[in-house]
Amino acid sequence: MRYYSTRDKNQAASFAVAALAGLAPDGGLYIPEEIPRYSAAAKASLGSMAYTDIAFETIRPWVEKDIPGPILQEMIHSAYPFAAPLVKAGDRLVLELFHGPTAAFKDFGARFMARAFSYLRRGEEKPLKILVATSGDTGGAVADGFYKVEGISVTVLYPKGRVSPLQERQIAGLKENICALAVDGSFDDCQRLVKQAFGDSDLNKRMVLSSANSINISRLIPQAVYYAAGAGKASDVVFSVPSGNFGNLTAGLYAWKMGAPIKRFIAAANINKTVPDYLESGNYEPRPSHATLSNAMDVGAPSNFERIAAHFSWQELRQLVLGASVTDNETRDTISEVHSRWGYYLDPHTAVGWRAASTLKEAGLLAGESALGILSTAHPAKFAETVEPITGPVPVPLSLQKAMQRSVQVQTIPAELEALKECL
Ligand SMILES: *Cc1c(COP(=O)(O)O)cnc(C)c1O
Repeated sequence: MRYYSTRDKNQAASFAVAALAGLAPDGGLYIPEEIPRYSAAAKASLGSMAYTDIAFETIRPWVEKDIPGPILQEMIHSAYPFAAPLVKAGDRLVLELFHGPTAAFKDFGARFMARAFSYLRRGEEKPLKILVATSGDTGGAVADGFYKVEGISVTVLYPKGRVSPLQERQIAGLKENICALAVDGSFDDCQRLVKQAFGDSDLNKRMVLSSANSINISRLIPQAVYYAAGAGKASDVVFSVPSGNFGNLTAGLYAWKMGAPIKRFIAAANINKTVPDYLESGNYEPRPSHATLSNAMDVGAPSNFERIAAHFSWQELRQLVLGASVTDNETRDTISEVHSRWGYYLDPHTAVGWRAASTLKEAGLLAGESALGILSTAHPAKFAETVEPITGPVPVPLSLQKAMQRSVQVQTIPAELEALKECL
């Protein structure tokens, strides 16, 4: 499989190059030359295969030239000691993506990416340093994914005082090869510092820098797996996807193209509704983001949109994806209603996915659809400060209980490149 840049078909790269670079040299995103397809046999057994076997069938053709089969098997088994169960909640199915160590779906991408990076960099002398700017969730998943991975260290930058105590422990509680920096500034300052570091010639002489954000193709491919696993158990399902940067939905579209029996998708947004607006009007208008309860989806200029647009025209996309936007009040009402009617706890992001599906159903746009599947992107206990005032105490999974007990080791720095460079 070869990959090329969304901006130039002549910028071709192997999986190894595309994954380690993240962004193409021309600033575009790497997309596959051709999306592989499941064999008829694999497709027929999606409903009965183990999660790790579906992962192998799904990921293999994307990485074939760079990662030998037996190594890929090993990576998958070590990355996924947990799966993505499809559970019934009232009249719907919920694809629970929060059974990994940081209790959010980003574990699926980050854990595979970490293992792929480690293998692809084997034998290299210069250490690889991953720089991540985070507003909360990504930092924890990336830190956890790369924890104790040989030959790679991670520096996570987050805005001081603006992440939750749990998120801070997930980022700054691991230590070892994970370094946490609390930046005196905003998330935008953190992102700017990371960009400046990538452009700094002195740093680039000393070490190999890489990023781990959701534009990385090695994070998206393993996310196609849970769509296929879910669709295998509920054929012709409509999946509602709580979306921000649209990496998750892109992975779903890949699973669909590969032949997973998915009928349609719902692009579920909070009030940051750049993509639902585009689906309606055909005009793509990125804009500044607004803060909401589903803060991991507060994105006004989704970074993966360029990738989706490279694969699908507006007309094609409209056939396959319905858009809907959900307010904070609707999000709270949905958490309350689903808990009181069905006894199921939704986190604010999943609640946006649930409500978006309700809105479309009430508008008659989902008539005749067989199964309605909601992707649950985070465990409700991760957002207890929003959920518990509505539902009462939320049971806390073991992984989060353990994280809460960690002591934090963090260095505070001013939002200046020189300060960051000293830490690296
Ligand atoms: C990152 C995140 C999202 C948004 O996913 P994208 O791939 O950026 O669209 C949704 N929910 C949660 C809990 C997240 O952490």
